[in-house]
Amino acid sequence: MAELRWRARQQSQAVPVAAAVLVRVVTRMFAEVVLTKTSSFLDKTYDYSIPATLLPSVKIGIKVEIPFGKRTTQGYVVGLKEESSVPGIKAILRIVDETVLFGPNVVSIARWLADYYHAFFLRALNLFLPPKGKAPITKNQISSNYQPPKFQLTQEQTAALNTIFRAIDENRPEVFLLHGVTGSGKTEVYLRAVEHLLLQGKSAITLEPEIGMTPQLIERFQERFGDNCVVLHSHLTLKERRAAWWRVAAGQGKIVLGTRLALFAPVKNLGLIVIDEEYENSYKSDMSPRYNTRDVAQKFGVPVVLGSATPAVETYYLADMGKYHKLVLSHRIDHRPLPPVTVVDMRRELAQKNFSMLSSELRDSLQETLARGEQAVLFINKRGYYTFVMCRECGKTLECPHCAASLIYSSQAAALACNYCGYSIKQPPLCPNCQSSLLKFFGGGTQKLEDEINKLFPQARILRVDQDSVKQRGSHEAIFHKFSRGEADILLGTQMVTKGLDLPKVTLVGVVAADGALYQPDFRAAERTFQLITQVAGRAGRHHLPGKVIVQSYNPSHYAIIAAAKHDYQQFYQQEIEQRREMIYPPFTNLISIIVEAASKKAGFEFAQDLARGIQGTVLGPIPATIARARGKWRFQILLKGVDPLGLQLPVPPTGINISLDVDPASLA
Ligand code: ADP
Ligand code: ZN
Ligand code: ZN
Repeated sequence: MAELRWRARQQSQAVPVAAAVLVRVVTRMFAEVVLTKTSSFLDKTYDYSIPATLLPSVKIGIKVEIPFGKRTTQGYVVGLKEESSVPGIKAILRIVDETVLFGPNVVSIARWLADYYHAFFLRALNLFLPPKGKAPITKNQISSNYQPPKFQLTQEQTAALNTIFRAIDENRPEVFLLHGVTGSGKTEVYLRAVEHLLLQGKSAITLEPEIGMTPQLIERFQERFGDNCVVLHSHLTLKERRAAWWRVAAGQGKIVLGTRLALFAPVKNLGLIVIDEEYENSYKSDMSPRYNTRDVAQKFGVPVVLGSATPAVETYYLADMGKYHKLVLSHRIDHRPLPPVTVVDMRRELAQKNFSMLSSELRDSLQETLARGEQAVLFINKRGYYTFVMCRECGKTLECPHCAASLIYSSQAAALACNYCGYSIKQPPLCPNCQSSLLKFFGGGTQKLEDEINKLFPQARILRVDQDSVKQRGSHEAIFHKFSRGEADILLGTQMVTKGLDLPKVTLVGVVAADGALYQPDFRAAERTFQLITQVAGRAGRHHLPGKVIVQSYNPSHYAIIAAAKHDYQQFYQQEIEQRREMIYPPFTNLISIIVEAASKKAGFEFAQDLARGIQGTVLGPIPATIARARGKWRFQILLKGVDPLGLQLPVPPTGINISLDVDPASLA
């Protein structure tokens, strides 16, 4: 993609000098048009003259019909200018639709998106365009509610809000980091900031990492703002999305709530963007343009509030440096204590021949919680298929000869691998220690956990929430509602259980396998582990009943786990930032990941080598990508450190070879 775009630019500059005569007609205006459909080879805008009859109606953001080559086609007007150097310029034929779909501000954000993330301009612009299909008729259906909450804001909430209000009132595009422990009242701050904005007739966008993860937040917004809220996310049907988009465009829903795509809603008079849990990976788009929501939001020219209990290390660094304005909510509402966290060393459980996924401590605590009629949340990492191989005879786990770390079995590869150094062996038939053939595979995911708990506590009502159980649209909300109505005792699942839940009867949180995230071959592995544990721990004891957290780990002395057990962001951050500094990783540099794909392994590698040699700066690789072969293509990765994406130009690959670029990648794995 990137390479093609580059080629297109080269061509567009190749205007013969003699032909580049400036056309200058005083009353004439010219429009810059991007075709509504582009072939995958062209990333260009084209100049057209505007006939005098159309002059009053041609605006940026409308759709026009234009001659193109031998045919007519349609395009969006993305610029107006008084002169054009295109020889023999053609005229716009007619206006297809006078509806203004976007303004000049959108055009400049889209241009930045295209340039920075190396994407086609049209793709970037498309983010802002209405979902396909005819615009529905929007009814005015605003019912203004309620009911302000009965409680008084805390001092910290008040102080944070006053600072945010000032930026809103002055329409100052300042970025705030609202760093508040779980249950400290961040959501209440968002709500009040939005309320303040509404009184001024402005609009707000509030973003959530994943819509199913935070059902309660949406309810709270809807409770307070009623029909003023418009929810926009990718789980909606096309028809629902279209209705939502046009309602916002009509200026009716002033509060847009949604996932990253909601950032591009056609909000009128935008006055604030809130990004809740700003560190979440889902804010990074996995399709071109591969933008990071947090960074794009800062191009909108309005105040931005980034909220989290566990800010991204990069975000916190910028706040520390004074680039972002730090606002702190240091304690929970009513000074409720953060729940005590016990770290259980799972190696010891093994030594005691406990092969269950539950340590005796977690099992006992579950029993007590159930006996008291309270609720428990159990978290196991999505990639929690953490399968060890252990000998039943001698009790040894199979370890890496280089790293003193357990080898992890992957059924896909039918091999045991070390997640530290990449050492890998095919599954040995015998224990290397005692030659026994009684090798046992253990570990497991959500399903296995559910089975185990069912056996241990047959009366317990269990709800499982993971990708399999929420495949059906909307069913994660159904599961959460069931749990919040007290129709289940244990909620067990992946990342989806780690945030958003604010339930008085949840008094026990168990992190069944804390290490899953730790072993990812990624410089953010420790950060992710810290975030996951801290977030899920924050679900316990949020109201009057005291809570308790048990974290099971095979690596209990890792700093991410120790800091999470103390709810100590500072301690984690201090260690992590030093590692980043030493290894020269973000925020001390920026990264660009380039993937070269080719049908021929040799041709792909050689091209990648040439490409790497041609780039100025710190270039790592090429190496085989984490997924070394996909869809019959060999894949090679090149990592650039400290290279400005805006200045980067890549060569055109020969046919059969593809390049794709990920600027500021969310993960290197
Ligand atoms: P966070 O978003 O930081 O996790 P919330 O905004 O959800 O925190 O607040 C935690 C709980 O405390 C919620 O039930 C919320 O309604 C309540 N709450 C928030 N602010 C106050 C306050 N000032 N006084 C009393 N309760 C509050
Ligand atoms: Zn190793
Ligand atoms: Zn053995």
